[in-house]
Amino acid sequence: MATTELTGAEDVAWDLTDLYAGLDDPRIEADVAEAEKDAAAFRARYHGAVAGLDAPALAGAIEEYERIESALVRPLTFAHLVFATNMAEPARGALVARLGEKAAALDTQLLFFGLEWAALEDAAADALLSDPALDHWRHHLQSLRKFRPFLLSEPEEQIVTEKTVSGSGAWSRLYEELLGALRVTVDGEELSLEPAMAKLYDPDRETRRTAAEAITAALGPGLRTRTFVFNTILLDKSIDDRLRGYPTWISSRNLANETTDEAVEALIEATTSRYDLPQRYYRLKARLLGLDQLEHYDRFAPIASDATLTPWDEARDVVVDAYSDFSDEAGSIVARFFDGNWIDGPVRPDKRTGAFCATTIPGVHPYVLMNYTGDRRSILTLAHELGHGLHGVLAQPLGYINSSTPLTTAETASVFGEALTFERLLAQEDDPHRRLDLLAGRIEDAIATTFRQIAMNRFEDAVHTERRERGELAPERFGELWIERQSTLFGDSVGLDGYTPWWSYIPHFTGAPGYVYAYAFGYLFSLAIYRRYVLEGEAMVGPYLDLLRAGGSRTPEDLARIVGLDLTDPSIWASGLEALGEELDEAERLADELDL
Ligand SMILES: [Zn+2]
Repeated sequence: MATTELTGAEDVAWDLTDLYAGLDDPRIEADVAEAEKDAAAFRARYHGAVAGLDAPALAGAIEEYERIESALVRPLTFAHLVFATNMAEPARGALVARLGEKAAALDTQLLFFGLEWAALEDAAADALLSDPALDHWRHHLQSLRKFRPFLLSEPEEQIVTEKTVSGSGAWSRLYEELLGALRVTVDGEELSLEPAMAKLYDPDRETRRTAAEAITAALGPGLRTRTFVFNTILLDKSIDDRLRGYPTWISSRNLANETTDEAVEALIEATTSRYDLPQRYYRLKARLLGLDQLEHYDRFAPIASDATLTPWDEARDVVVDAYSDFSDEAGSIVARFFDGNWIDGPVRPDKRTGAFCATTIPGVHPYVLMNYTGDRRSILTLAHELGHGLHGVLAQPLGYINSSTPLTTAETASVFGEALTFERLLAQEDDPHRRLDLLAGRIEDAIATTFRQIAMNRFEDAVHTERRERGELAPERFGELWIERQSTLFGDSVGLDGYTPWWSYIPHFTGAPGYVYAYAFGYLFSLAIYRRYVLEGEAMVGPYLDLLRAGGSRTPEDLARIVGLDLTDPSIWASGLEALGEELDEAERLADELDL
């Protein structure tokens, strides 16, 4: 979606010299060599000896562990960042691949430490954990022990780790390569999947319909092969879970997300019981587009043809002001990203698409990658990534291990910052057409992050369960289960003709089973905090910043308590969904008022 319009972001390039001077900086090799040498020494010193450590010695060992990890994460992050801005230059890709292999080898070396700690009897571990010398590491150590009932012996774990590369890892890579090789023929033009999907955002319905039909046609031929790969990954996961003794297909993911099967079930229950919200929205959207009913390819159609571009400097002011209004401290941290050249702004050839924030880089501030196009979506994306950045800066003093968050809380600051910025944009807008357009964009993002992800989770749940109970699934069966779950989501608000094979273009299902619900978890959690801020104002600012400062050093439940929320109470999800319902009320009211 490159744009030729100038936004002033063209010269906004990040300065990576805070990490390394360049690709050939000798410090890169020096840091990697040091990490390798220290990892070998660490293994020699602690392998087989973890059970005998007292609390201060254990604290010392984890500090050393963190230092070794940090020494490798730094060059690895640098490699990812230089690669992201120019993916066509072979030297950059080669560095990413080489350091990725080094990181895997290092992990295999250091794996024993967590295993030996988890193998300790509860009584011995509890005695150590109550020692003040381990205050800083308590949460990390407790998290590692949650896997205790599901761990294998060290030689078995080593086999599993190494075999993953040629097993599920290889299968999911094949899946991605198959998707990458897909060619969609639209009006005689051969496109890969991403640009073909981009046509679903086109204002012209015929363009969208043609693209959707072409995508359906392109997904057909390789379906049998992709089904085989998916079935194999389902089987592989069921074997892992059986050997480790996980009660359900999603349990291992929930544990890694630092949540429980019950909390995730409550989230799913709350979301699926409000499918009326997306259905209401899609009926409104049909009305705004002048259609009787939306087809699946109409969901992303723009409802207004507002082509005003916001220059980079103006976007910067909007976002920095939104954060500053909330808190001076937050505003000045966000401003540093601009002043310190920590952002790569423009769309450029061979640059990675989308946006991200490298949030936790040991010893260095975060970096943000944007593809700024000047539309309003782009401003909110900037606010989103800078939320991650704020989170990273505030949590950094805790060190690499304690500042890293699980998926479930990783989106807290980003979604919150987006909400602050959205409210500011809305407040500045008097024109009812544009207000409606803003609200529609906001609601569509919320639907994509919550309802859509939960419906995909229901599909995953169905295929994993059926694979375990009845064996391999036929391609037609994947399609049936997909359409069933999608129909429950959309009701009669969206037509699904031709949508049957579309489950097979989503790489999350094969690359990271169970991943998708965390988007909904994080989004609704953050929205619940934002609702509290709207109600209580100033009094929430301190606790909220404290929550960010705590990074990943506590459980999501404990973090929620800092801002007065109870994550074990299912009504927390309903509150976030209610906020969405209110935005929908307002959008419907505006549509009536404008007689659309
Ligand atoms: Zn994010």
